[in-house]
Amino acid sequence: MRLSKIRLAGFKSFVDPVTLNLPSNLVGILGPNGCGKSNTIDAVRWVMGESSARNLRGQAMEDVIFNGSSARKPVGLASVELVFDNTAAQLAGPYASYAEIAIKRQVGRDGSSKFFLNGSRCRRRDITDLFLGTGLGSRSYAIIEQGMIARLIEAKPEELRASLEEAAGISRYKERRRETETRITHTRDNLARLADLREELA
Ligand code: ATP
Repeated sequence: MRLSKIRLAGFKSFVDPVTLNLPSNLVGILGPNGCGKSNTIDAVRWVMGESSARNLRGQAMEDVIFNGSSARKPVGLASVELVFDNTAAQLAGPYASYAEIAIKRQVGRDGSSKFFLNGSRCRRRDITDLFLGTGLGSRSYAIIEQGMIARLIEAKPEELRASLEEAAGISRYKERRRETETRITHTRDNLARLADLREELA
């Protein structure tokens, strides 16, 4: 699955709607200091569900919204859409047959965040689930930032294992197992409470 387009509007320095076309597997973004190169990477991370403003080099989530310049007033909404080419059907599950997968996130000044999958409103979780085990995702190894190679070399065995599991596509199943175990624990607790109530009533 290849990222083919990034559509930005009101996101950080990208105040006007713009579409960045990524025409091949290898794309370089060049430009002077402060022109917005890192902002495009922040945008990719943000749509994938990044929930920490600090990881997006800000203090609060609203900091991703264009906050004005000497020539422009601030805007009220930031929106980023990523379009993936899925013609090789690399994405498993219900979206395998879609030639294009578009994921979008919007945030307003009131902090309200909305996610969309191929135009339909969805939860943040639907987006993170979609990419689990593909190597993509807001904190996965698909985005290699400064210092990451050093962090991987120095990583503890369990941290390294998490990266290997993501690469092997296992993390999706581990997450499902964790959720199922939590549900089983809740169900056991409910059954125990039910047994107590039955005893009291008997
Ligand atoms: P460098 O080469 O120095 O790393 P860069 O091209 O990666 O630079 P970015 O960090 O992507 O630059 O962009 C920095 C610019 O984005 C700064 O001019 C900053 O004022 C602007 N910027 C960041 N957040 C916002 C925002 N919310 N509203 C308006 N402008 C913003």
